[in-house]
Amino acid sequence: MSKYWKELLIGGGIATLGFLAYIGYNIVPVLIAIAIGTLLFFAIKSRGNLATAGGDRHARGRVPLELSFDEIGGQERAKQELIEALDFLVKQDEIARFGIRPLKGILLTGPPGTGKTLLAKAAARYTDSVYVAASGSEFVEMYVGVGAGRIRDMFKNARQKAAKAGKSSAVVFIDEIDVIGGKRDGGQHREYDQTLNQLLTEMDGIHTSESPRILIMAATNRKEMLDPALIRPGRFDRHIGVELPDKKGREHILGIHARNKPLHASVELSRVAEESFGFSGAQLESVMNEAAIYAMREQQQEISHAHLSSAIDKVMMGEKTDREATREERERVAIHELGHAISAELVRPGSVSTVALSPRGQALGYVRHHPQQDQYLYTREFLEGQIIIALSGAAAEEMFYGSRSTGSRGDFDQAMNIVRTMVESGLTELGIIDSSMMTPDSWAKISSSMLERLMERTKDVLNGHRQLFLSSLDILLTEETLSGERFRELMREDLQSA
Ligand code: ATP
Repeated sequence: MSKYWKELLIGGGIATLGFLAYIGYNIVPVLIAIAIGTLLFFAIKSRGNLATAGGDRHARGRVPLELSFDEIGGQERAKQELIEALDFLVKQDEIARFGIRPLKGILLTGPPGTGKTLLAKAAARYTDSVYVAASGSEFVEMYVGVGAGRIRDMFKNARQKAAKAGKSSAVVFIDEIDVIGGKRDGGQHREYDQTLNQLLTEMDGIHTSESPRILIMAATNRKEMLDPALIRPGRFDRHIGVELPDKKGREHILGIHARNKPLHASVELSRVAEESFGFSGAQLESVMNEAAIYAMREQQQEISHAHLSSAIDKVMMGEKTDREATREERERVAIHELGHAISAELVRPGSVSTVALSPRGQALGYVRHHPQQDQYLYTREFLEGQIIIALSGAAAEEMFYGSRSTGSRGDFDQAMNIVRTMVESGLTELGIIDSSMMTPDSWAKISSSMLERLMERTKDVLNGHRQLFLSSLDILLTEETLSGERFRELMREDLQSA
């Protein structure tokens, strides 16, 4: 109807103007006014379009994506599971023949920096879809309804982009879904509830026959926080764990990020992978990048193992700081670190990688350990060994100075966390207990009794090695670092002379 009105108005306007001109009126000023008005109208309209495109904060992945699964290291199981799920999208005819309902949502869960975003991008490429991404925090607004509106826009935008690019599907990726998808608590956060409801509505509106088809992928590292409505069958019903890579995975990721970097022939990525236990993909990428920066700063042609080793220290502990410590402080720190190193070698021979007396991040010195192999289960003996290593810094300070310092704070936190793990795993004299029933008093009792007993053992262990402390101290004070090999040599000499 409105279409006819427009036409009637335009037609009537032209007829009136013609009639006025015919009876001798000067219609030039009216024509000029109409021309200016039309120009203004189109100018405003095109600005509006630009604003929608520019302000389209959800369309981060605008450029055609060239990221494939081959560029994601480790994560073989996650990749496999994801590809199997995506095949539902690719093999449309088959799923229609079997009457399988469409896959709507895939939830990727795991620690930060493990490659969840990369997997979503690779999924878009694998399914030949357009990729639209947003982070949960982008939907959080003070005003009720704004977040919900943004969700609507994002889906609309995905459909339009797919249509424009001539693709039959779109992957919508929402990072940090827990920000909007947290459990609803009955009315306290109406804005969050509306945003989540809108997302659920959009998901329910996805049908097999729809074109373009939409696949929603979301990432979180707090799956337990999500509202059950979001993860019920028919919504995010595929859950794929994206965990920290194991040694083989780390080597693979390092290899991917080393592709465009000149590595010295002597560099063994398997060794770097061994030293970077517990690192995520993002941290490994950073190790490679930092190593390249060190090599460039030193005006070297190639990246050596020493550069990679410093890069691991930097990623683990932070950048070297130029905090000036006094000679007494440096000596105390050296004794403290040697305490850790000696007990580490005694508890787990061959595990010390470097002892360093250079301030990094918050630490004035540090010992870097390399685990011989990735480990996922720990026995009571192993954990007690870890506590002994953590307590050794303070024990060494007591041995040489008769007192401890604030430098042991982090070590005690670490020891206390291990005690907590042991209690919760039923590895203490308390037996198998429900730790949520424990009072702060009983926590204090068990941790102080365990830590005191282990502190005595630690002191006994270290007492027999006074000479080793003194010989290593000199080297550490002058050279600032002591490699694991050199330290073990000194230890052998010490044992022979004993
Ligand atoms: P977050 O949960 O913090 O959003 P994420 O799991 O989505 O993190 P990504 O954004 O995918 O992590 O990864 C960040 C960067 O880390 C990538 O751009 C890449 O350089 C590197 N990276 C992470 N995981 C891998 C991997 N498995 N293979 C290769 N590179 C990786």
